[in-house]
Amino acid sequence: MNDITVLGTGVLGSQIAFQTAYSGYAVVAYDVSDEVLETAKNRFAKLAKTYARDLGDQAKADAALERIRYSADLADAVAQADLVIEAVPEKLELKREVYTKLGEVAPAKTIFATNSSTLLPSAIAEFTGRPERFLALHFANQIWVHNTAEIMGHPGTDPQVYDEVVAFATSIGMVPIQLHKERSGYVLNSLLVPLLNAAGDLLVEGIASPEDIDAVWRIGTGAPQGPFQIFDVVGLTTAYNISAAGGEKQQAFAKLLKENYIDQGKLGIATGEGFYSY
Ligand code: NAD
Repeated sequence: MNDITVLGTGVLGSQIAFQTAYSGYAVVAYDVSDEVLETAKNRFAKLAKTYARDLGDQAKADAALERIRYSADLADAVAQADLVIEAVPEKLELKREVYTKLGEVAPAKTIFATNSSTLLPSAIAEFTGRPERFLALHFANQIWVHNTAEIMGHPGTDPQVYDEVVAFATSIGMVPIQLHKERSGYVLNSLLVPLLNAAGDLLVEGIASPEDIDAVWRIGTGAPQGPFQIFDVVGLTTAYNISAAGGEKQQAFAKLLKENYIDQGKLGIATGEGFYSY
């Protein structure tokens, strides 16, 4: 693989494109308009600074910027692509539309990978026009630090395509996590969400304080962070939105989050205070 196109230059799309360029690939960053791409250029410039600060190689970060080409024309953006990584908003209908158009203009060789967090590839596969060359390649926020790539096909994904994507993920510095079957939430969230739900439940029931719940998890398992520290990283608004849409116990936790934290502007690390002060 040589040429990679990333669809969407938002939070994750920009990171995926930059990480790929940083690893030496020629990258095309596609978004809906030239105006959005102007904003994207600022985002990429900031990422270059962050990479230089965190990874200590200014010249490499600057070279990565030079390897990114910008395009608001889908056919042009994917004309050479060996792999298209899609990071457009998490809406099923939108993704289906994007894949329908993409399938019409991309060369036959091109592999398509979705970065979707919650949608299964099988819900999108038939819209790609090439289901055997389609799968999920899921990155984490702050890709240069949290460098996992969860790779998940659907039942019709060609195993050779799957292996090529595993090799690509490795080549851009990711630890490839190979899922053998489709699973909503991949591996990470299949583990993390029940932990966070249990922590919320312990708090709602008044069993123990956030500090003690975190302490027993850290000391008892050797994990670097407890669940409430993780809530502060994720942001309490996101935690609220997910909990409010859940069952009875999760809704009780959503209410606690809103009344005791969100209504007082305590949204987590981003605002300097959540369960902890920073
Ligand atoms: P975002 O809203 O920050 O960015 C989405 C980008 O897609 C925007 O630049 C927007 O202009 C662009 N876009 C909209 N319509 C488009 C179209 N038709 N074609 C091309 N681009 C279009 O979203 P995000 O947080 O980067 O999430 C993108 C995807 O990545 C989602 O599927 C999400 O589930 C997944 N994801 C997000 C995170 C995260 O922490 N934010 C982590 C892992 C995976």
